[in-house]
Amino acid sequence: MRQSTYFAPTMRDMPADADVKSHQLMLRAGYMRQVAAGVYAYLPLAKRVIHKIEAIVREELDRTGAQEMTMPALHPAELWQQSGRWTEMGDELIRLKDRHGRDFVLSPTHEEVVTMLIRDGIASYKKLPLNVYQIQTKFRDERRPRFGLLRGREFVMKDGYSFHDTEESLAEAYQEMYDAYGRIFTRLGLTFRPVIADSGAMGGKDTHEFMALAEVGEDTIAYSDASDYAANLEMATSLAPTPVTPTVSGTLEKKPTPNARTVDEAATQLGLASEDILKALVVVADDALVMLLLRGNDELNEVKAAHELGVKHLRMATEREVRDTFGAEPGSLGPIGNGEVPVYADHATRAMTTIACGANETGYHYINVSPDKDYTVQAYKDFRLVQAGDQSPDGQGTLQFARGIEIGQVFKLGTRYSETLQAQFLDENGKAKPFYMGCYGIGVTRVLAAVIEQHNDDNGIVWPKAVAPFAVHLLCLNVKNEAQKQLAEEVYAQLQAANIEVLYDDRAERAGVKFKDADLIGMPVRIAIGKRADEQIVEVKERHTGAQHDISVEQLIDWVK
Ligand code: ATP
Ligand code: MG
Ligand code: MG
Ligand code: MG
Repeated sequence: MRQSTYFAPTMRDMPADADVKSHQLMLRAGYMRQVAAGVYAYLPLAKRVIHKIEAIVREELDRTGAQEMTMPALHPAELWQQSGRWTEMGDELIRLKDRHGRDFVLSPTHEEVVTMLIRDGIASYKKLPLNVYQIQTKFRDERRPRFGLLRGREFVMKDGYSFHDTEESLAEAYQEMYDAYGRIFTRLGLTFRPVIADSGAMGGKDTHEFMALAEVGEDTIAYSDASDYAANLEMATSLAPTPVTPTVSGTLEKKPTPNARTVDEAATQLGLASEDILKALVVVADDALVMLLLRGNDELNEVKAAHELGVKHLRMATEREVRDTFGAEPGSLGPIGNGEVPVYADHATRAMTTIACGANETGYHYINVSPDKDYTVQAYKDFRLVQAGDQSPDGQGTLQFARGIEIGQVFKLGTRYSETLQAQFLDENGKAKPFYMGCYGIGVTRVLAAVIEQHNDDNGIVWPKAVAPFAVHLLCLNVKNEAQKQLAEEVYAQLQAANIEVLYDDRAERAGVKFKDADLIGMPVRIAIGKRADEQIVEVKERHTGAQHDISVEQLIDWVK
């Protein structure tokens, strides 16, 4: 590829609103451009990397017998209403209407559609297990799209789904995907850890997240310094919600936040907008976070926030604290949980928002409300946040913390979707049963950014070979010099003939500019053709080590291979 006509517009200055390395470097080196907040164009350089990531993902998944397919991104709302996620997903779900006024969804994930397809396409246990996947654009109206490709509103995901007649069969597929993910991320050159995760809103059972270790990661991992034990912070803290029977009803009314100063302080410390915090009451006296209710429980929940704020545990609020914060009288909405817990109403601006909090000696309570569903109540006992230095839950070594980027997740869904969408098969005895399901995701474009977060230096990107857009960056240092130009053209032709992917800098730029750009763009091998062209000698530099060698053109292809 000739760089003189290649669409990779570089930037000299640091892009203003890019605060992480991968985002800055991809903009500066001409890999991508923003089209709207969290929405990006992948320019030719990025597209080549994406192809390579996808090829590795495909190879490893195909090896397991998983079958690639493509499902639509546009879904009828009915499917999502049936599964309950039309309301559960709240504002993250992008909704639209067609010309007839019918509701649609731009898909953030495909459990609904794939379950429908399998329901209608598989009748018997004889066709099981089945494992399908796709690599496709997903849409999520993230509360805070940020960090470039790390959290977009439109992004590429590999999502896979498996269907089984027994839990044992699901467990086998889960393990197989877990192992495949390990191979994939290793081949991609990532330093990562699988961590035990909280199945939370997905309503599933076992789940692991694969975390690429990086300071900019939004997740905190607790891991043992002496074993393989690793868990995300929520899981390590063993936050175990105990459901309480909900019997709340009443009108909800918005009240102003009384504790504004604390809210602002907490928001600043958490890097959030104040509006993101519905309520905060940060008690510092005993190092405890009493109450902090955030919008969008999925992304940054209270446990993470407490950790970020440096408090040591969450404790239940006293009646007094609740009353002061919420400005409500105990029981103003009527009792819940057989009357033993006072409830305070506050906020009902969103489809699915934590709106109230109450406390008694049994613990710390949230009520999640969605307009067309029953109120649900979860009671949280007081709990202490895990600390660095705590004994690891597996008894081996002590816990340490690290930051991670969630690059993938494997999930045992069980029958959550097959039951709500009535997807059944006939077992050996001709009895109808719901499918057991697993789902498996990899953030393809997030992986691209994560690789850069782990592979860069002050001068630019340092691609691992497996995913570099080109293997070689060939520079003709002075295109006006005949000998150099001629040799560069020859070497370019030879590299191409040897099937070595090469970006050829044939631009009429100064040598200094070319060297700078080559470091920035980050190809593993740089071949510079300069002063020694008439001796048929070129200078080769390894981006990774910085090592330079003068090599004769005769030996060049063998060297590069
Ligand atoms: P997060 O916790 O970061 O919001 P998630 O748990 O909501 O991610 P999943 O539903 O598990 O994401 O989706 C599978 C994978 O898709 C994730 O592991 C991640 O790699 C990727 N992914 C999720 N959201 C985004 C996003 N907004 N931008 C880029 N990649 C994403
Ligand atoms: Mg998310
Ligand atoms: Mg997650
Ligand atoms: Mg996830």
